[in-house]
Amino acid sequence: MEGSFFKFEIFSDYPEVVQGISTRQYGNMSFQRGEIEKAKKNREQFIKDLEIKPENIIVADLVHGQNIALVDKSNVGKSALLKSSVIENTDGLVTKEAGIFLMITVADCFPLMAYDPVKKIIGAAHLGWRGIIAGIIPSFIEKFKQNGSSLENLLIGLGPGICQRHFVVKTDVLNQFSYFDSSSVFIRNKDGYVDLRKAIINTLNKMGIRKNNLEVSNYCPVCNNHLFGSHRVEQENAPISAAIIGLKG
Ligand SMILES: [Zn+2]
Repeated sequence: MEGSFFKFEIFSDYPEVVQGISTRQYGNMSFQRGEIEKAKKNREQFIKDLEIKPENIIVADLVHGQNIALVDKSNVGKSALLKSSVIENTDGLVTKEAGIFLMITVADCFPLMAYDPVKKIIGAAHLGWRGIIAGIIPSFIEKFKQNGSSLENLLIGLGPGICQRHFVVKTDVLNQFSYFDSSSVFIRNKDGYVDLRKAIINTLNKMGIRKNNLEVSNYCPVCNNHLFGSHRVEQENAPISAAIIGLKG
């Protein structure tokens, strides 16, 4: 943790990368709950601390699907401070352009960030259990490949997200994960649990992402609730984090 927001080590050798995940100290970043004016102010502060401008930020809508949008400067314009300016029907964004920054929001769900320093392609995706089952991870990695990335060059950061001890699930979710990756499923005292972090790492490894190119945060918003808002713990009052990444223009 650097200062008041989370940063991945894996991108730190690349001064062109701007990145950060807000902690609860910044307050709620979501326009879907609470007072919008407050969320706007919170976003403004975080964006300022990253030394970038809200009008250069592109925000994903987040629908728990597997769509990844390739975006460029033509998608910028309405600013991260306007609720109406999201890219609809997408849970992840990838860009080949410097000077624009990608933003997703998370609470319990995992932020996945990636950078190809050779081709200068950068991206962020929001991974919840539905998106993982729907195939958002291959869809995200594919987007890099389609744009010329070689898997061996891809650096990946998996941010804070709910740990297996705290992710109790109902039978239908348990069954879906038993089928998706049986090693990520546990039964304890008759309750079913899913290790989403493990399911994500296994999927990335199966796709050919090198272990040395993957940084995994061990923070869980339930275990580390003093640092990150958790929907499981706080429901509608959870301060949603923003995850932002991009290349300096
Ligand atoms: Zn936990």
